Amino acid sequence: MLADIKGLNEECGVFGIWGHQDAAQLTYYGLHSLQHRGQEGAGIVVTDGEKLKMHKGHGLVTEVFSRGELEGMTGHAAIGHVRYSTAGGNEYANVQPLLFRSQTSSLAVAHNGNLVNANALKHQLEAQGSIFQTTSDTEVLAHLIKRSGYMDLKDQVRNALTMLKGAYAFVIMTEEKLMVALDPNGLRPLSIGMLGDAYVVASETCAFDVVGAEYLRDVKPGELLIIDDNGMTADRFSSPTNRSICSMEYIYFSRPDSNIDQVNVHSARKNLGKELYREAPVEADVVTGVPDSSISAAIGYAEASGIPYEIGLIKNRYVGRTFIQPSQELRELGVKMKLSPVRGIVEGKRVVMVDDSIVRGTTSRRIVKMLRAAGATEVHVRITAPPIAHPCYYGIDTSERAELIASNHSVEEIRDIIGADSLAFLSPEGLLRGIGRPDGDPNNGQCLACFTGKYPTEIYPDTVLPYEKEMV
Ligand code: SF4
Repeated sequence: MLADIKGLNEECGVFGIWGHQDAAQLTYYGLHSLQHRGQEGAGIVVTDGEKLKMHKGHGLVTEVFSRGELEGMTGHAAIGHVRYSTAGGNEYANVQPLLFRSQTSSLAVAHNGNLVNANALKHQLEAQGSIFQTTSDTEVLAHLIKRSGYMDLKDQVRNALTMLKGAYAFVIMTEEKLMVALDPNGLRPLSIGMLGDAYVVASETCAFDVVGAEYLRDVKPGELLIIDDNGMTADRFSSPTNRSICSMEYIYFSRPDSNIDQVNVHSARKNLGKELYREAPVEADVVTGVPDSSISAAIGYAEASGIPYEIGLIKNRYVGRTFIQPSQELRELGVKMKLSPVRGIVEGKRVVMVDDSIVRGTTSRRIVKMLRAAGATEVHVRITAPPIAHPCYYGIDTSERAELIASNHSVEEIRDIIGADSLAFLSPEGLLRGIGRPDGDPNNGQCLACFTGKYPTEIYPDTVLPYEKEMV
C-alpha cells in the first residue's frame, strides 16, 4: 500500500470502548491497528464518569503516546482517532477527538468521513452566533448538538445527525454515554464488538482481533447506538436507505485481515484478481503485486491464470515519515525510497504487474520504469478497479478531477503515459462480482462514485473536498 505517495488516502480511523478498566490502553492498541487509515495525528479521550481527559498530537500513535501519558489516562471508557490530512497545514486543533467542555457536560467527538454540507451548515451556524475553533467539518456536529433545543442528549444527537449529509462514522462520548452513529448510506465501515462485558467499536474489525474482542455486528446505515452502564440500545435517526459502502475500502484501504460488512478484505481482493484475469488475460512468465494492498489480488490473478506469483517488488518498511509529504516532488522521490524491484525475479521475464488503482499515473509510470530497468522484457499492468475519473467527496483524497489521469485520458493514452506493454482496468461488474456482497441492493450496496460519477448523496455546490479543508 503506497497511500502516502500515490495520491489516494484514507481520512481517518475511529475506535471506542465502554466498560473496561483499561479503556485508554485498549484504545491505544486499537488505534495502532488502524494506523494505516491515518498517520498524521492521533488522540484519545478517556472518562472516569466524572470528567473527560484528552491527549492528542501530530504523528503516529506510538509517537503521540508514551507509557507515562497512558498511565495517567484512567477511566472505564474511551474514544480514539487516527487522522490523515494533506496540504495546507495540519493544525493541532483539527487533530481528533475534538473535546468540547461546557457547564453541564463535556462532549468528545471522533469522525471518519466527510460531510458534504459542512460549509452550508457552518454559514448557518455562524449567522446564529457560533464561533468555530477548527476548520474540521466534525465540529459542526458539536454545534448542532448544543443548539438543538432538546433536553435529552439522545434527542440532541439524533436531531443533529438528521441535518448532516455525506459520509460519517461517529463515536461521541460524554461522562455518561458512548454514542455511535453511521450515515444513512453507510459509506464508511463501522463495527461493534464485545470484550467481556465491555462494548468496543472500530472502523475495522482488525482492531477487535488486536484487543481480543469478539465481533458482534456492523453498525447499520442511519443507526444511532447508545452505550452506557445499562448496556446498548439501538435507535435510528433516518429511515433505512440502500447501503453505499465505499468500494475502495475493499480494493485498497482496509487491512486484509478485516471483514468489512462481513466480507473479508483479503478474500475480496483475491477474487478481484481472478475477475481481472477473466476480463484481461495476458501471456506472461510471472505475476507480481505492488505491495502491500495488491498482493492478495496478484495471488488471485496468478491462481486464475496458472502463471506463477512471485515477489517482484519489495517494499522498504523503514522509510521514515519525513518522506510522507504532500508535495508532488516528494511523492515522486518517495516511490524510489519505498519500492525496489527484485532483479533475480523479473530479469528476462514478461511481468504482469497487478495494482489497485491509478490516480495521477506518476507512481505507475515509475514502477513500470523500475521493472524495465531491472530487466523485465514486457510489463503488463492490470488494475483491480475501474478507472478513477471523479473526485471523492466522502473522506477519501482522490485528488481533484484535473489531476485524475483517467478523467482526461483514454485507457490507451494512460498505457502510453505509464509506458506499459498493455493496460487493463477491472469493469464495475467485475468489481461487484469479485467483492461478492449480496446483490439485493443497487450496486450490491457499494459506492462506485469515483468510477461512475453517480454519487449516492446530494453534492452541494460549495462542498469542500477533504484535502482542501485545511485551506478553508
Ligand atoms: S467515491 Fe470512491 S473513494 Fe469515495 S466513498 Fe465512493 S467508492 Fe469510496
